[in-house]
Amino acid sequence: MAQTNNISKRKFDVVIVGAGGSGMRASLQLAKAGLNVAVLSKVFPTRSHTVAAQGGIGASLGNMSEDNWHYHFYDTIKGSDWLGDQDAIEFMCREAPKVVYELEHFGMPFDRNADGTIYQRPFGGHTANYGEKPVQRACAAADRTGHALLHTLYQQNVRARTNFFVEWMALDLIRDADGDVVGVTALELETGDIHVLEAKIVLLATGGAGRIFQASTNAFINTGDGLGMAARAGIPLQDMEFWQFHPTGVAGAGVLLTEGCRGEGAILRNANGERFMERYAPTLKDLAPRDFVSRCMDQEIKEGRGCGPNKDYVVLDMTHLGAETILKRLPSVFEIGHNFANVDITKEPIPVVPTIHYQMGGIPTNIHGQVSVPKGDDHRSPIPGLYAVGECSCVSVHGANRLGTNSLLDLVVFGRAAGNHIVESLKNEPKAHKPLPADAADKTLARLARLESSTSGEYAQTVANDLRACMQSHAGVFRTQALMDEGVTRIAEIRERVKNVTLKDKSKVWNTARMEALEVDNLIEAAQATMVSAAARKECRGAHTVNDYERGADDAEFPLGRNDKEWLKHTLWDSASNGLSYKPVNLKPLTVDSVPPKVRTF
Ligand SMILES: Cc1cc2nc3c(=O)[nH]c(=O)nc-3n(C[C@H](O)[C@H](O)[C@H](O)COP(=O)(O)OP(=O)(O)OC[C@H]3O[C@@H](n4cnc5c(N)ncnc54)[C@H](O)[C@@H]3O)c2cc1C
Repeated sequence: MAQTNNISKRKFDVVIVGAGGSGMRASLQLAKAGLNVAVLSKVFPTRSHTVAAQGGIGASLGNMSEDNWHYHFYDTIKGSDWLGDQDAIEFMCREAPKVVYELEHFGMPFDRNADGTIYQRPFGGHTANYGEKPVQRACAAADRTGHALLHTLYQQNVRARTNFFVEWMALDLIRDADGDVVGVTALELETGDIHVLEAKIVLLATGGAGRIFQASTNAFINTGDGLGMAARAGIPLQDMEFWQFHPTGVAGAGVLLTEGCRGEGAILRNANGERFMERYAPTLKDLAPRDFVSRCMDQEIKEGRGCGPNKDYVVLDMTHLGAETILKRLPSVFEIGHNFANVDITKEPIPVVPTIHYQMGGIPTNIHGQVSVPKGDDHRSPIPGLYAVGECSCVSVHGANRLGTNSLLDLVVFGRAAGNHIVESLKNEPKAHKPLPADAADKTLARLARLESSTSGEYAQTVANDLRACMQSHAGVFRTQALMDEGVTRIAEIRERVKNVTLKDKSKVWNTARMEALEVDNLIEAAQATMVSAAARKECRGAHTVNDYERGADDAEFPLGRNDKEWLKHTLWDSASNGLSYKPVNLKPLTVDSVPPKVRTF
């Protein structure tokens, strides 16, 4: 207790952890309303992973082909394999055009059509007329859409005088005796000092945890810190078994080639040069949703039609697009081909494999971004003082499989909605800061003290590498019940090793080893949530495909292995008990008719 008294404290109306697209969209709304907002980030804001987003942001503007939000709504539900909550999906798809025009007015440099409207390209799973044909819905700035978005939001935040705490790592949530969230503890990386940041509201926007896998398109900072903070504070994690494999990671390198390539007309081919997607998805072909395309690629490889000496990848062919289109629409992809595969994509196809890309699950929220957990009969009871948006949250609009371009959209729609909700609630019920509990920082200080005093044990990197290897082999694209069950045991063993991670270099200033050791505490929460939730779900749905439960599309009871009778429900994993509970999917939209579950064909 005495220790907490001795560390520095600062007070804000709102503390946001994370300066990616979601955190900065929320902070902008708050700063503009005159609230005192602090945004913490492990890296300079414009280096957040959002900067790497390539292909586009989805909105039914209808600039280049007939479109409306009802089609977008339908595609997102079907893409989610019916696990998405239809109220949240309706909200997102209706808001989409508005938030995209708002970005345009903030100065986001979208590509343009000849008539001056925003350029839109086709993307996987996005269709017109309820699945009839691909639609052009992805609003793009070449293949650097996330870069354009993030820089625009950063500049707007600077203008609105948001307080940035750059290279500050949040460590733990502070909850008081009522369970309300009243602040966070954080490590200032430059000095090694620990701080308490008090807030009326804390908003988590820490992005994905893609680094729990070995081969990932994600940045190294994507270690699931918000998930770890929530889990340690007793908040369950939702639907963590659903991880998206992006069909086109560069084989061997993991770097992403945007789905925008296929949007512009690129084709997947097997060792025979065949455009195999025509066989699996006669209507959408290469532009079927990601879970579907990844599985088809897998099938080709399994059946011996993979390319290369080991027949372990397929190729993405863009040669027919012409150098001019490639250099105009896909300039980064051209560079990636050159730098990571030594391939000139204007002249030859590039080797690709499905690669971990996105977490559909996360911290459960409602459509206002309030972190919401079951309490009595209420499945979504908000935790006072805590919000979450972006990839770390699960609202859930992506269900069991996200459509490309719907994440950037999710960041902006729900970042803005959470901002508005916070502004409204602080205006309607002005509240003072609740008193900080006397032991506010004790848990954090204990974590650090253990590292400081450790003289033996394993290095964070060794344990993290084993964790990643375990996730890759036991919860990858190839899932079997036996593999996942074994994974549950192995991850539990790794959790024990996490407790004994040691720190050799105890220096204070910019000690990245300390940062990595603290990140392992978050990796293990995300990894165990994933493994335990996956092993328990005995069906195939979206990205969760288990060989044991695979069936054909014509299986009357369980088409494609999906079991709606037992498994049309969200998973909730609790860290303290390592146990699971479930809550129903919301099949009721806000204003329109529900889209009832049916077989997914493309
Ligand atoms: C290569 C790639 C391409 C993609 N392309 C597209 C696309 O074209 N369209 C699309 O819709 N989606 C795309 N996605 C997905 C989408 O970009 C991400 O889901 C989204 O950008 C995540 O945004 P975010 O705001 O949730 O988090 P991020 O942008 O990941 O930001 C997280 C922030 O949290 C901070 N942070 C994390 N932990 C801490 C901590 N402990 N303390 C302080 N700060 C912390 C980080 O510093 C960072 O500022 C792509 C993803 C990748 C990886």
